[in-house]
Amino acid sequence: MSRRIAVLSEEVANQIAAGEVVERPASIVKELVENAVDAGADDIRVELEIGGCRSIRVVDNGSGIEQEDVALVFERHATSKIVRIDDIHDAGSFGFRGEAMASIASVARVELLTRRPDDLAGTKATAQAGSISEISPAGVPSGTQITVTELFANVPARRKFLKTEATEQSACLDAVMRLALSHPEIRFSVRADGRNMFAAPAAASVADRVAMVLGRDFTDHCLTIAQRKENVELGGMVSTPTWTKSNSKSVYLFVNSRFIRDNSMMHALLAAYRQVMEPRRFPAAVLFLRLPGEEVDINVHPAKMEVRFKNSRIIYDLVSGAVSRALAGAQASRDAVAYRLAPREMAADSSEFQKSRPYQASWGRQRDVFSRANLQRALDEDLFARAGETDVPARVEDASCEERITFDHRTYLGQFAGAYLVFGGPGGLMLLDQHAAHERILLERLKATGKGPVASQPLLMPEVVTLTPAQISLLTEALPLLAGIGLELEVFGRDAVVVKAMPAALPNVDARLLVSDLVDGLGEGQAAPSLAEKKEKILASLACHAAIKAHAELSPAEVAALCRDLEETPFNATCPHGRPIRVRFTLYEIERMFKRK
Ligand code: ADP
Ligand code: MG
Repeated sequence: MSRRIAVLSEEVANQIAAGEVVERPASIVKELVENAVDAGADDIRVELEIGGCRSIRVVDNGSGIEQEDVALVFERHATSKIVRIDDIHDAGSFGFRGEAMASIASVARVELLTRRPDDLAGTKATAQAGSISEISPAGVPSGTQITVTELFANVPARRKFLKTEATEQSACLDAVMRLALSHPEIRFSVRADGRNMFAAPAAASVADRVAMVLGRDFTDHCLTIAQRKENVELGGMVSTPTWTKSNSKSVYLFVNSRFIRDNSMMHALLAAYRQVMEPRRFPAAVLFLRLPGEEVDINVHPAKMEVRFKNSRIIYDLVSGAVSRALAGAQASRDAVAYRLAPREMAADSSEFQKSRPYQASWGRQRDVFSRANLQRALDEDLFARAGETDVPARVEDASCEERITFDHRTYLGQFAGAYLVFGGPGGLMLLDQHAAHERILLERLKATGKGPVASQPLLMPEVVTLTPAQISLLTEALPLLAGIGLELEVFGRDAVVVKAMPAALPNVDARLLVSDLVDGLGEGQAAPSLAEKKEKILASLACHAAIKAHAELSPAEVAALCRDLEETPFNATCPHGRPIRVRFTLYEIERMFKRK
C-alpha cells in the first residue's frame, strides 16, 4: 500500500462506530428505550413502521433535555451519565458511552422533540448523516420523542443484511420485552403499523411483569429462585423440567437489570437441568443477578450485551446451585404426591427417575417386556422371521459400504437406555435411535403427502397457546404456509393463537409444544429462506413432535413395525437434523476391542 496514513473524517468514524451499535432496527429500539429508562420515564411508547425498517419512534415522559444540551446529544462521547471512568461502576444507567445517538444519526435521519417538565418551551432538532441540520424552539409535551427514519439510506450495503419485515419487527419487540422484564414499574407499549402489539401497564412485582410479558403459561409452569451468596444475589423463575423449549431463546439473563448473554451463566443453568430434562430440550428462565458494580465489567461489548465477572466461579456455582435446588425441591414434592396416589405406576412410569438412573431402571423394566417368551414372539413376527428364511451370509458386513438401513439377517435384542434399539446379526451389532428413526419416517411421509392437499383434522376442543408478541409477529407471516401443511392457527389477541386443526397424519401431538417450537424455529437461520426451505423446516419440526420419544417403551410388535417402515423410507440412515439414526460395530471391531484380533 502506497497510501499515506490519514485520520478518518468524523462522518466515516461515526459510521464505523455505528456498525457495532446499529446492526438492525431492533438495536435502535434498544438504545432509544434504554435512554428513555435512563431519563426516568415511567411511560414509554414505541411505534414501528414496516418492522422498524421505515420508521421507529420512541416517546417517553422522562426528564427531557435542556435546549443548550440538545446539540451535544448527537456528538460522540457526549453523555450526561458519567464524568470519570470509575463512575461506570455505580452509574446505574444503561448508557455511559455517549455513542448511541451519534451512531444512529450517522446512518439514519433523526428527529428529536424534547421538553423538560419545568420549561415552558421545548426544542426540536433534526440530525442526518452525522450532523445537526436544525435546532429550534418548539411547543412539545414534556419528555422526549425521537423518530428515526431513512435507516441505512446512506449505507445501502447494510440494508441488504436486514431480514424480512416480520423478523425485524419480532426483534424490535424482543428488545422492548427484555427491558420490560427488568423494569416492572414502567409502562411499555408497542404499536406496529398502527396495530397494538404489546402493552404492559406498570406492574406491582417482577412476577406480575413476567406473566404479562412471557405469558401465564410460563408462570404456571415455573419454579421461583431466590438465593444469595456473599454479596451476589440471584432471583427469578425457571420452568419445570417438563415445560421445555426447542432452543435457549427463552432464557433471559439480567445482570443488574441489564439483559446480557453469558455463556457461563447459561451453562450453569443447563447443567442444573441435565439430569431432569429430555436431551436437546431447553428450559425457559428469567434470572436476575444483582451484584456490586465493581464486581462486574459492563464495558466489554459495544452494545453492552456481554459482561465480564470478576469472580465467575461464584456466579456459576450460585446459578447451578440455586436452580438445582429448586428443581430437586419440585421433584421431591411431585414424587411424594405421585407415590401416595399410585406407588406402583409411578415407579414404572417415572421418566425422571429413569433418567437419573438409566441403566437400572430400563434394564429392570425390560426384563419383563423382553422375557424369553416375548422375544420369541417378536422373532416370529414377519420382520424377524425373515432372518430365518434366508441363508445367513458368511461374509462379515462392511459397515462403510451400506448407506441404507436394512434389517435383513438381524435379530432384535432389546431396548437399551430407553432410547436405543439393539440388533444383532452376522454383520455385527447395530444400535438404532428410536426417536430419530421415527422422525425420519414421519418426515418423508409428510413430505410425500405435502405435495398434494394435506388432510387436516379439526380439533374438537381448539387449543389456546400463549406466545410473546415477538413470536406472534413471526408467526403471522407463516400462517398461510402452515395452513397449507394442515396446521390451522388463528391469532387471538396480542399474546395467543388458537390451534384449530392439526395435520391428520399426526395424532397425539402436544399442540402447545408444537406451536411454541415452530415459532422458535421461524426466526432462526438464513436472512430470507426460500418457501421450500421454510416448509421443510416446518415439516421437520412436525415430525420431531409426532415421533416416539426417548424413554418410550416399545413392544416388540411396535419395534417390528418401526423397522418395516424405516426400510421403506428414503434417506433412512440420518435423522432430519443430520444426526445418524444408527451406529454399528462389526464383529471384527468388537473382537478387536477384546484384543482377540
Ligand atoms: P449515553 O446513553 O451513553 O449517554 P446516548 O448517545 O445514548 O449516550 O445519549 C446521549 C445523551 O443524550 C444522554 O447522555 C442523555 O443525556 C441524552 N438523551 C438521549 N435520549 C434521551 C431521552 N430520551 N431523555 C433524556 N435525555 C436523553
Ligand atoms: Mg444511551
